[in-house]
Amino acid sequence: MKRILITGAAGFLGSHLCDRFIAENYEVIGMDNLLTGSMDNIAHLMPNQHFSFYHHDVTKFVHVPGELDYILHFASPASPIDYLKMPIQTLKVGSLGTHNLLGLAKAKNARFMIASTSEVYGDPLVHPQPEEYWGNVNPIGPRGVYDEAKRFQEAMTMAYHTYHELETRIVRIFNTYGPRMRVDDGRALPAFFSQAIRGEDITVFGDGSQTRSFCYVSDLVEGIFRLLHADYSLPINIGNPNEITIKQAAEEVLGLVNSSSVLSYLDLPKDDPKVRQPDISKAKNILNWAPKISREEGFRLTYDYFKKVVK
Ligand code: UDP
Repeated sequence: MKRILITGAAGFLGSHLCDRFIAENYEVIGMDNLLTGSMDNIAHLMPNQHFSFYHHDVTKFVHVPGELDYILHFASPASPIDYLKMPIQTLKVGSLGTHNLLGLAKAKNARFMIASTSEVYGDPLVHPQPEEYWGNVNPIGPRGVYDEAKRFQEAMTMAYHTYHELETRIVRIFNTYGPRMRVDDGRALPAFFSQAIRGEDITVFGDGSQTRSFCYVSDLVEGIFRLLHADYSLPINIGNPNEITIKQAAEEVLGLVNSSSVLSYLDLPKDDPKVRQPDISKAKNILNWAPKISREEGFRLTYDYFKKVVK
C-alpha cells in the first residue's frame, strides 16, 4: 500500500483528497491544525484503519514515522476574509510549512505536491491565464499575504526540485466549489447560497461585473490525482474555463434556491481581480484532463449540501 501525507486534511479540498486516496487504496495520513478546517469533514474517515489523523501545525517541525510515498501540502487559510484575519499564519504555512514539508519529503524520498493558486497571477493583465504568465500581484496589498506565500511556495518547491532532485508537482488551483465549503468562509458561492437560503440580501461586491470561472470539486480532485502520477514538474492550471460574472453567479444561485432575497451591492474589496479564467491547454494535453461537471449540476449538488448545513 502506498502511504500519503495530506496537510489541510480537515479542510474543503484536503478532505475530498483524503476520500479519493482512501478510495484508491492508499494509506492516508491527514494533518491539520484546525485553524480553518473542521473535524466534521473527516469524521467519516476516522474509523477507517487506513486513515490516521495528526492534529499538528506544519509551521512547526513535522515528524511522521515510517515511509512516505507522497506528500500533498494543502494546508492554508484560503478565503480572502480568512487570510485578512490571519495574515501571519497564512504567510507562515506557505513559507515555513512548505520548507518543513519539503525537508520531510527529501528525508523520505517522497513525491511532493503543493496547492498553488490562480492568485499567483494577481489581478491579471493577460486573459485567460496560461502558466507562462508571471502575474500582476501587489505584494503589500490585503491579498499579498496569500499571493506571495504561494509564490514563495512555488519558488521553494522548484528549488528543491532543481537542487535536491526531489520529485515535485505544482497545481495552480482556480476557484473551486462544492460540499464542505465553510458556510461562513466569506467566499462568493458559500455566501450567496447561505444568504439565499436564509432569505437575506445577497452581498455582491462592486457592480458584480468582475468574473470568475468556477470548478466543481470532483473535477479538481481528478486533475490533482492525474497530475500527481504524471511526469511533469512545472506548474499546471486546474480549473474550469467556463467564466461568468459574479452578478450572474448570484442570479443563478437565486434562481436555483427560488429565494426571495435581493441583490445588495457593497464596496469592491481592494485588489479584487477583475477577471479570471484558466487556460487549461496543458492539463488537457499532458494529463488528458478536462472538467466534466456543468455549473448547473455542480450548483445543484452544492445546494443540496448547503440546504443541510445552513442554519
Ligand atoms: N464576492 C461577492 N460577494 C461576496 C463574496 C465575494 O461579490 O459575498 C466577490 C468577490 O469580490 C470576488 C468574487 O466574488 O470578486 C469571488 O470572491 P471569492 O471570495 O469567492 O474568491 P476570489 O476569487 O476573490 O479569491
